[in-house]
Amino acid sequence: MRMQEGYVAEGIREAWEQGLTAADMEKINRYTRRAFGPEEVFAFSMVLCDNRVDRDGERFPVESLQKLRELFLGKTCIFGHQQVGANQAARIFDTALEEEPGQEAEGGETLTRLIARAYLPRTKGTEEMIALIDSGMLKEVSVSCAVARRVCSVCEQEQCGHVPGEELNGQAIHRLLLEPTDAYECSFVAVPAQKGAGVVKRYARQGEGLKKAWQALEQEAQWGRKYRESLTEKVLKYSALVQPELPREVMKSAVRGLSMEELDMMGRTYEKLAQKALPLRPQLAPERARVREDENKAFQI
Ligand SMILES: [Zn+2]
Repeated sequence: MRMQEGYVAEGIREAWEQGLTAADMEKINRYTRRAFGPEEVFAFSMVLCDNRVDRDGERFPVESLQKLRELFLGKTCIFGHQQVGANQAARIFDTALEEEPGQEAEGGETLTRLIARAYLPRTKGTEEMIALIDSGMLKEVSVSCAVARRVCSVCEQEQCGHVPGEELNGQAIHRLLLEPTDAYECSFVAVPAQKGAGVVKRYARQGEGLKKAWQALEQEAQWGRKYRESLTEKVLKYSALVQPELPREVMKSAVRGLSMEELDMMGRTYEKLAQKALPLRPQLAPERARVREDENKAFQI
């Protein structure tokens, strides 16, 4: 058995608030302790994976996608970041294969995507996650599953001399992931925080929609920079309150090497410290007054 890990698909592409049919609700209510009404859940759809060669030179043929379609039913999707509580998980209640007529995947197959529809109950605890999904910030999903066999696309052997990535008769040699045996929890990838360089490679190798992909990445990088600036500004602001003796420029260069996550954490920590420090201000005022009194006394002598 082999783990197929970290497959990053296109991810969330649609969130809708209404339009859940009775049939949809029936599917959702298979996973709930009591029957929910459509107004009590938030639903969205996402692309889990497709039959194209991924950045590791592997792909799921349609036959494997069929099996994955069954295996992902009922699985949860978590938000793999500290910003949202770990107990918030969306559950996949419906899966489907969607063909893209006119677009080909490797091996002569029509491009086929495994689409999942998931729901979250609308509670106080899921508000944040729903807002994040709605905002379109969670654009990617990391999916993992186990497959029984991984074979060469040319000779269908598990061990052979064919080198993935090399061309043979105009087709890139790759590995086929066959007989999926299990699907695991998937996780959302927040766009500004973690932008895998592998995504670029993946698009580049496929050589399709490259310009569009670059533009999207460029845009996301800009987004990331803006996000970083705002996090840095937060750290500097609260640091100035908590440790006013530390020059802003020193602090600025100190945080330059931090990851987005560390910056975020630091901002939160300083914010808490600043909130604790602020009530001290009124107590400082009399102290200053006393100093002035002392100064006056000194003058009196
Ligand atoms: Zn081979």
